[in-house]
Amino acid sequence: MNHHIITIDGPAGSGKSSVAREVANRLGFTFLDTGALYRAAAVAIREDGCCAQDNAACGRILKQIRLDLSGSRVFLNGRDITEEIRSPHISELASSIAVHPSVRSELLGIQRSFAGRTSLVVEGRDTGSVVFPDADLKIFLDATPEERARRRHEELRLKGSASVMDNVLKDLKNRDHRDETRKVSPLVIPEHGIVVDTTHLSFDEVVEKILSLARDRLTD
Ligand code: C5P
Repeated sequence: MNHHIITIDGPAGSGKSSVAREVANRLGFTFLDTGALYRAAAVAIREDGCCAQDNAACGRILKQIRLDLSGSRVFLNGRDITEEIRSPHISELASSIAVHPSVRSELLGIQRSFAGRTSLVVEGRDTGSVVFPDADLKIFLDATPEERARRRHEELRLKGSASVMDNVLKDLKNRDHRDETRKVSPLVIPEHGIVVDTTHLSFDEVVEKILSLARDRLTD
């Protein structure tokens, strides 16, 4: 059977996760949240206590752990860390360790191991450019930094976490800068990627747009 891959990349707060999850549900594909793997790696590195700036040390730690994704749950050595990985502290640490070549190469193998078993909707920063460059459809979701910060702030508010809009915007811009300027696998629009600017689109409009692109592409 022929398995398909749709990649959805973009900056923080562009709505990738929720859109990718819904597109996967509607198509009956498996959803792969690659950011969750970077976040889980950050938890492992923090718990080890090693220096997060040390490329080699971070890579060594990742060789010794087991990361699993099961549905929407994330496990580190069998322990469920689904809630823990969403804290602002882990967001920041995940973005810092994601610049290390050793971290990216360890997680690359894990991400690619999901292919071939089932059709996938994959979301992240380099899934169309590096992880699955031959994907059937590559989407780049974008929105203005202010709109992305507004969405992230609202998400945190709904979860009951106090946050200050200016700080959310500052953190988001820092993470964007790190993702766009790192030497290995920076955040880019992948070759043949289709840019969808979501600034003025509702969630349903974004999902419908991607489903329509998917129907055209996957029946070709
Ligand atoms: O998407 P999410 O915010 O969960 O990702 C956490 C961090 O992991 C991002 O800020 C980014 O630096 C990193 N990441 C990455 N490449 C991916 C997915 C996430 O560098 N494919």
